[in-house]
Amino acid sequence: MKKCHLCQQDFNDGDVISLEGLDVCAGCKPEFLRRMQEGDLESAYYHYAGFWIRVVAKMIDGLILFTVTFPIGLLTAMISEGFIKDSTSGKGLAAFFILQGINMVIGFLIGLTYSASFLATKGATPGKMACGIRVINADGTLKISLGKAIGRGFAEILSQMILYIGYLMVAWDSEKRALHDHICNTRVIYKK
Ligand SMILES: [Zn+2]
Repeated sequence: MKKCHLCQQDFNDGDVISLEGLDVCAGCKPEFLRRMQEGDLESAYYHYAGFWIRVVAKMIDGLILFTVTFPIGLLTAMISEGFIKDSTSGKGLAAFFILQGINMVIGFLIGLTYSASFLATKGATPGKMACGIRVINADGTLKISLGKAIGRGFAEILSQMILYIGYLMVAWDSEKRALHDHICNTRVIYKK
């Protein structure tokens, strides 16, 4: 039994052919060749990007985002301080937490807009570009849809919520997938 790379169905060994190192069924062969020709498909000969290079990419993106989120954080911190000083009742404290919450949501939305727009248009955030890595779909196609890019951003929250173990999974996964890669059917590879 072999699995066709495109339709993901099982076939007898004799019914699949090997193209560019990938198993493809007869029905999917024309589609496969069309995608190869349009440059919308990576062959099987790619290298998955490992844990540390992805950490470096994340740090670069983090620094870029920090230049935007830091002034916003500073501003909300200053406003919240005023609230706490002005009020001895619980109201000041409530306002403080609400502002912190808003701050977190704004930070997340800025990060999400940043990563999703770069992933959907260039296949990589500036941090990933600097590291020579990119995100592709599990079937080898290069173009990440905007919906998937946004979904991946939300899935990353899960990876963070479990003490970043979702990211750490890259270290032992056979295809170096993070939890959000599992959920969104994406892979991170070295650019050619
Ligand atoms: Zn197929």
